[in-house]
Amino acid sequence: MPKSDMPRIAILGAGPVGLEAGLYARTLNFPVAIFDRGQAGEYWQRWGHVRLFSPFAMNSTSLGRAAIKHSQLEHDLPADDAIITGREHHEAYLIPLSKVDALRGCIHVESQVVGVSRQGLLKEDHPGDPARAKKPFRILIREAKGRERIEEADVVLDCTGTYGQHRWLGDGGIPAIGEQAAEAQIAYTLEDVLGEKHKHYAGKNILVVGSGYSAATTVCNLAALAEKNPATWVIWLARAAVTQPIRRIPNDPLRERDRLAVRANNLATRTDGNVEFHAQCAVQQIEFQGHERGFRVQGTCAGRAKTWEVEQIIGNVGYSPDRMLYRELQVHECYASLGPMKLAASLLGQKTEDCLNVTLPGPDALRNPEPNFFVLGAKSFGRNSNFLLRTGFSQIRDVFTLITGNKNLDLYKRP
Ligand SMILES: Cc1cc2nc3c(=O)[nH]c(=O)nc-3n(C[C@H](O)[C@H](O)[C@H](O)COP(=O)(O)OP(=O)(O)OC[C@H]3O[C@@H](n4cnc5c(N)ncnc54)[C@H](O)[C@@H]3O)c2cc1C
Repeated sequence: MPKSDMPRIAILGAGPVGLEAGLYARTLNFPVAIFDRGQAGEYWQRWGHVRLFSPFAMNSTSLGRAAIKHSQLEHDLPADDAIITGREHHEAYLIPLSKVDALRGCIHVESQVVGVSRQGLLKEDHPGDPARAKKPFRILIREAKGRERIEEADVVLDCTGTYGQHRWLGDGGIPAIGEQAAEAQIAYTLEDVLGEKHKHYAGKNILVVGSGYSAATTVCNLAALAEKNPATWVIWLARAAVTQPIRRIPNDPLRERDRLAVRANNLATRTDGNVEFHAQCAVQQIEFQGHERGFRVQGTCAGRAKTWEVEQIIGNVGYSPDRMLYRELQVHECYASLGPMKLAASLLGQKTEDCLNVTLPGPDALRNPEPNFFVLGAKSFGRNSNFLLRTGFSQIRDVFTLITGNKNLDLYKRP
C-alpha cells in the first residue's frame, strides 16, 4: 500500500469479519488492503453444506446490506429470518459483499500472509512501548505461484479465523502415536458426507471423534447416509463422561441448534441404529494400514483398553488459531484459550455455554501490547468456540472507535 495521510489498514483474511471490517474502513476513507490465502469467504465454501444456526439478519450488517443494494441493484438478499446453509450465505451475501464498489481493488486473493513484523524491530525490542507504532508493519505475502513480496501498513487487523488449523485426536490434545504420519488420510473438517464425499463414506466403517456441534453434524449426516446405505456404520467417541454427547440449551432460541442437539443425542442413545456412541474415550494410537485395510485405532473407553478397525476417521475436535503470523509482534496470549489476553480474560469469566449470552467487554479489550495490531473475528476467541458473527461485527465497531479516536463512532447504528 502506498504511504498516505490516513493510516493504511491491512486486513488479514477475507472471511465475513475481514470483509465487513474492510467495508467499514473504506466507508471512513481509510486506504485498505485485504489479503486472503484463498478466495473471499474461503472457509464458507469448504463447510458450505452446513446449515447455519443464526438467521440472516444476525449474519450480516446494515452497512453490508446497504453497500450490496447500492452496488448491485438486481441482487436479492435473503429474508432477515432465513436460516440458510453456509454455501447459500456465501453466494447470497459474502460474494456480493466482496464485489461492492467500496471494496473495488482492495481484496487480494490467493495471497497468503506468512508473517507480520515491525520494520527494524524485533519482538523483544521496547516491550509494550507505544513508540513501536512509529515503525510501519511489514507483511510477508506469498502468492499462489510462490512469488513473495512485502506490504506495509500502519494498522493490522488479523481476521484469519481458526478453521485452517485443526487440533489433534490424541489424549490431552497432542497427536496420538502415529497420528501425524496418518494425518493426510484423516478428515479433520466438516466433510460433506451426503454430497460430494458420499462415495468416500457410503457403506464404510467410520470413526468420528468429538462432541461438539461439528461432530454432531457429521454423525447426523452419516446416519442419514446409513439410511440409504445400511452397511454404513458409525463409531462415535467423546471425551466427557456423558450419556448424551450434546448439551441442550434450555428453551434454545436458535431452533436449528436445538434440532441438531436432539437428533444427535437420539442417535447416540438409541440401540437399533447404525451409530454406536462411546463416552469417556481417549485415543492413544492410530495406524494407517493402507487404503484397502484402513485404520487400526487404539484407545481407552472408561479406562478400558479398546481397539477399533475402521475404514475412515473424521476428527471433529476443534480448531486453533495460527499464532505464527504474529510471532515477532508483542501479543499477549491467554494461557488457556490462545486468544488475546484481555478479551480472553473477560470470556473466561463469563462461564456461559451459549454463544448468544456472550458479552463483549468494550474496545479496550481488543488492545494488545503491540500498538495498532488487533485480532478480530473467530480467531480473537482462540479455542473458545462461542464466537458468533454478530460478536465480530461489534468488534469491528469497537476497533474503529480506537483507530479513529472517536468513541461514539457507530456506522451500524440505524439513522
Ligand atoms: C460449520 C460452522 C458453522 C457456523 N455457524 C455459525 C452460525 O450459524 N452463526 C454464527 O454467527 N457463526 C457461526 N459459525 C462461527 C463463525 O461465525 C464462523 O467461523 C465465521 O466464519 C468466522 O468468521 P471470520 O471472518 O472470523 O473467519 P473465517 O470465516 O474463518 O475466515 C478467515 C479467512 O482468513 C483466511 N486466512 C487464513 N489464514 C490466512 C493467511 N495466513 N493468510 C491470508 N488469509 C488467511 C481464510 O482463507 C479465510 O477466508 C460457524 C462456524 C463453523 C465452522
